[in-house]
Amino acid sequence: MAKNPLHCSFCGRSRDEVKILIAGQEGHICENCVEHAREIIDQELLVKDEKKSSSFKLTVKKPVEIKKFLDEYVIGQDEAKKVLSVAVYNHYKRLQHKSSDNQVGGNDVEIEKSNIVMVGETGTGKTLLAKSIARMLNVPFTIVDATVFTEAGYVGEDVESILTRLLQVCNYDVTAAERGIVYIDEIDKIARKGDNPSITRDVSGEGVQQGMLKLLEGTDVLVPPQGGRKHPEQKLIKINTQNILFICGGAFDGIDKIIARRVQTNTIGFNVDKDQQESMKQNLLRYVNAPDLKAFGLIPELLGRLPVVTHLDPLDAATLRAILTEPKNSLVKQYKKLFELELIQLNIEEDVLDFMVEKAMEYKLGARGLRSICEGILTDAMYELPSAKVTEFTLDLEYAKRKFDNSKLSLLKVA
Ligand code: ADP
Repeated sequence: MAKNPLHCSFCGRSRDEVKILIAGQEGHICENCVEHAREIIDQELLVKDEKKSSSFKLTVKKPVEIKKFLDEYVIGQDEAKKVLSVAVYNHYKRLQHKSSDNQVGGNDVEIEKSNIVMVGETGTGKTLLAKSIARMLNVPFTIVDATVFTEAGYVGEDVESILTRLLQVCNYDVTAAERGIVYIDEIDKIARKGDNPSITRDVSGEGVQQGMLKLLEGTDVLVPPQGGRKHPEQKLIKINTQNILFICGGAFDGIDKIIARRVQTNTIGFNVDKDQQESMKQNLLRYVNAPDLKAFGLIPELLGRLPVVTHLDPLDAATLRAILTEPKNSLVKQYKKLFELELIQLNIEEDVLDFMVEKAMEYKLGARGLRSICEGILTDAMYELPSAKVTEFTLDLEYAKRKFDNSKLSLLKVA
C-alpha cells in the first residue's frame, strides 16, 4: 500500500502515524515535534534566565591588572600577589573555556583547578588578599576556619558546611556559589601531628583533611542548607565544587625549620645572632614547597589538590608605615573621613605615624594592632570634638604619646 506522501519534516512520521500535521511554507510539523520543540525552548530560556538572574557577574581581568588591583589594597607581598593573580586568572580562564567548549563541542585539554595555599605569619595579609580578589571578581566569597571542622561522626561541623556559608552569602544562588571563592583559614591547625600516619584516630586533623578532599577535587557535594551536622530528614542542596576556587592560608609555625633542613641551612647556628636568624627565617619562607607542607603534616592527597603554594613576608616597619597611609581604605584615610563627616579636618603629623609603627613593632601587634593603636590615641578626640566648635584638629606627637600611655594598650607590652 502506498504511503500517504504527507509527512512531518522533522521526525519523518507520515500523516497516518500522527494526529496533527501543521503545514509550513516548505514542509510540515507534527504535534510530537511541536511538543518537543516547546520543551527545548523552555529549557533554554530557563538556563538563560538563571544566568541572568545571578547577581554575581564575573569580571575577569588579566594577571597584571589583577595585581594592580591588589596593590591598591595590600602593601608588599609581591610574590604572593603575582602567584595569586596568575592562579585566579587561569582558574576563571578555565571556567570560560569550559562553557565555550560546551557550545563548540569539546577539546581534550583539560585545564586543572589551581587551588592555592598561602604560608605566612598571622596578620600579614592572607585574608585581605583573598578578600580583595573576591571583591575584584565579584564572586561570592566566604572565610571559614579549618579548626571548627571535625571528622564526620564527631562533635563539630561537617566539612560540607564550608559550602553552606558560600550559599548563604549569595542567598542560595547555586549558580553563583558554584563559581565562588572559599578562603580556608588556619589550614595548618589540621595538620596531623608528626610526619607518620597515626595509628590512633585523629579527630581534628587527618580526618578533616580527608573530608576536605572531595570538596577540593570538584564533585557534587550534598550540602546542609543551614550548616552544622547533616541529619537524615534534612533536605540537602547539591553543589558542584569543580569551579569553586579554594584558597587556604596558615602560619605553619615552625615550618622554617623544616625548610632549613631541606635547604641545609642551620638557623640555630652558634654564631648566628637573633636578628640574623630572623632575617634568614624570612628568606626561608620563600623556598616553601609542597614537600615542606607534607612534612608539616598535610596529607599528600590534600596537597595534590592544592597545586599552587606561595608565601607572605613578615611585615617590617616600612611596610607597617605604608599600611597606615597607602591602601585605598587605609586607617589614616578612614579616620580622616570620619572627622570630615563632622566637618573637622584631621591632620596627622608624620612623626605620629612613625610612633604608631614603633609601638606596633615594640608590642608585636602587627598590622592588626595598628588599628587598636589608632583607636587608643584618637578615641578621646572622637568623643569630644563633635560637641566642640572646631573645624580642624592636628594630631601631634606629644598628644599621641600622652593618649597612648593612658590607653589600655600600654599595658599590653610583651616582655
Ligand atoms: P592574616 O589573614 O594573614 O592573618 P589579615 O589579612 O587578616 O591577616 O590581616 C589583618 C589586617 O591587617 C588586615 O585587615 C589589614 O588591615 C592589615 N594588613 C595585614 N597585612 C597587610 C598588608 N600587606 N597590606 C595592607 N594591610 C595589611
